[in-house]
Amino acid sequence: MPELPELEIVREVLERRAVGQTITAVQLIPPGSAIVLRDLTTTGFEKALIRRTIGSIHRRGKFLVFDFGADPSKLFLAINPKLTGRLQLASDSDKLRLKTHLILTLSSGDQLRYFDLKQMGQFYLSRELEAVPGYSDVGPEPLEISQDVFRDRLTRQLGEIKAVLTRGGFVAGIGNAYADEILWQARLHPHRKTGQLDEAEVEKLYAAMRSTLQEAIDKVRSEMKDEIHLKPREFMAVHNKTGEPCPRCGNAISLVGANDRITNFCRTCQPGEYS
Ligand SMILES: [Zn+2]
Repeated sequence: MPELPELEIVREVLERRAVGQTITAVQLIPPGSAIVLRDLTTTGFEKALIRRTIGSIHRRGKFLVFDFGADPSKLFLAINPKLTGRLQLASDSDKLRLKTHLILTLSSGDQLRYFDLKQMGQFYLSRELEAVPGYSDVGPEPLEISQDVFRDRLTRQLGEIKAVLTRGGFVAGIGNAYADEILWQARLHPHRKTGQLDEAEVEKLYAAMRSTLQEAIDKVRSEMKDEIHLKPREFMAVHNKTGEPCPRCGNAISLVGANDRITNFCRTCQPGEYS
């Protein structure tokens, strides 16, 4: 799923390419389809969005939020792409990708498309963000939280550190892939329990969270460019690198779990008597 670094760059690109643009056409595929759309306004998706100008776009956790301003009435589009949802900038001559469900044509001529192979993503159209399910539960942004607040919140989270990092209510925007990267950077075994971490380890974890995400934002920016449907991850150290040499010690990267819930780590750099 897109995580904080990818969504942050999608936001940056759309800030440049979509903010200030007016929506001139709204196309649902198939027509009238509500597969990924949740209209909390009851106005109707097409009717509510047509001729509205995108005032601003912000990211909050794994939500990307389009704010259409208050004229004639407040309107937000909150997008949670979940596992496989992707936004794409295209022109009308570009071939439609499989499972494209929504096309917003902008006054610039660009099309903002959404495709989603597993159709799990959600688009919420709402007059107020508080009404969007899950939005108010999003925890603090990892690049904004202080070390003290991070430590306090961590002591209230029980469980394995990998699982805790991916809880959006603890800190926002970290998923399966970046949790692996952060724990490798911090040299912590993913199955360590939060209660077992000493003060120095918590500090290492906090520092690794910030440096890993910040460096990833820079790498994603240079690799993604305006191709916002891409998910550049080749640069990662351990995630999806099963069997490859650890960039730090050279030993083979381990794998536990399967499918969408894999965990990759280095048993040498991240020691522990765990599975
Ligand atoms: Zn290693």
